[in-house]
Amino acid sequence: MSRLPGGGQARWIAPRALDGAVLEAVDSVRIVDTHEHLDEEAVRLTQPNTLTKFFMYYSFCDVASAGMTGEESALFWKAGVSGEDQWRALRRAWPLAKHTGFCRAITLSIKELYGIDDLRDDTIKPLLREVARRNKPGVLEWMLREKSGIECALVNANDPGDLARRTGTPGLFLFDLAVSDFCHDTLKVASYEQATGVDCGTLAGWKRMMDWYFRRWGNQVVAIKNVCAYWRVLKFEEVSEATAARLYGKWQGRKNRATKPEMKAVQDYMFHWCVQRATDLNLPVKLHAGYHSGNDYMDMSLFQVKDLQNMFRKYRAKFDIFHLSYPEWTDLVALAKHYTNVWPNLCWAWIIDPEASLAFCRQALHALPLNRVLGFGGDYGFADVVYGHSRIARDGIALVLTEAVRTGRLTRADAALAARRWLRDNAMDLYRIEEKRAAQAQGQPAPIKNPPAKK
Ligand SMILES: [Zn+2]
Repeated sequence: MSRLPGGGQARWIAPRALDGAVLEAVDSVRIVDTHEHLDEEAVRLTQPNTLTKFFMYYSFCDVASAGMTGEESALFWKAGVSGEDQWRALRRAWPLAKHTGFCRAITLSIKELYGIDDLRDDTIKPLLREVARRNKPGVLEWMLREKSGIECALVNANDPGDLARRTGTPGLFLFDLAVSDFCHDTLKVASYEQATGVDCGTLAGWKRMMDWYFRRWGNQVVAIKNVCAYWRVLKFEEVSEATAARLYGKWQGRKNRATKPEMKAVQDYMFHWCVQRATDLNLPVKLHAGYHSGNDYMDMSLFQVKDLQNMFRKYRAKFDIFHLSYPEWTDLVALAKHYTNVWPNLCWAWIIDPEASLAFCRQALHALPLNRVLGFGGDYGFADVVYGHSRIARDGIALVLTEAVRTGRLTRADAALAARRWLRDNAMDLYRIEEKRAAQAQGQPAPIKNPPAKK
């Protein structure tokens, strides 16, 4: 068995189904993980040892969808609940959901990290014991670099008052500039004034505030990031400065008298401003597109990737489209083929729908140049499940490349190049990782003097 960076023992696809040379090429890549929400290690070390770190956000949704009762769900999320009690809430529905991508990331991870093959009545205690034993300084390096073969992770932090983060693990963590608040129906004027000291009474002031953050972080962040497709459409109209200034005044006045379309117009103006600024600074524009995390609220009309076409035409910025815009990934192949500034990103996609991700890779391999696909991003708050997700990505890419080699459409050398481009080199180039690391090593910005309280 391979001893290379991603050469773990827990496998999604049996190695015998894959071409040995292709698998070795895939496993030898030190991945640039294009998207995470990971906590700082110092924060992680203070968190309770429960099953939350395995189920938070994603896997819980599939188990809930398999038919958890309201009581079971309440027990899982109860304050101060033990891991063993959380298992009592999950155990009935778990067998029905454990084969999904979300849940496979758990079973692959606990096998690789802790030698435990499944969640059962008799494995919960040993699992929690092993997690506790390993949870000490250096745990992130161990999980990410040693076990998952990840070179660095690009983190979208959401800390109050700042748009990126000062980190205790520079080099391992790099950050996006999180601009989503500027496309939100709540303006948060007071918080941003408190954090920056900039008067945001007018649109001109608000722009000075946004610029304060671009100047604070511009040389260190790898991209700007916007997740507004969770609450509004991806259609950003062009709005004149005069109109935006008038509507901003109406919106932020004591009694907000702006209508929803008027607020959208101001947001559209602000996002155009951010994209222009990103273009000037040669920062890619990361956008959430596609599927919504959670259950029972998704409105698929919000996240149509084709709504972004005016932006692709207007700006030379590189657009990094997340999650394959699932399930609109065939649109994304066409957009990335046509527009030279659109990069499909498989972050989160490998576990949302592993088969769709395989289909995308099969299609992209013969429709797009090799330098235009970003092959992996975990999209987790907890590093405990990154191994399993990255294993699904590595094995999935190895399967698609194996098929191409076995059918004579690709040489092994070209397959190795594809693996390296998709999992590492494209991200190194797009986000200018070496340059950003050097800037980060020169010194991170001073802490924010008056950060607003955490909600
Ligand atoms: Zn995310």
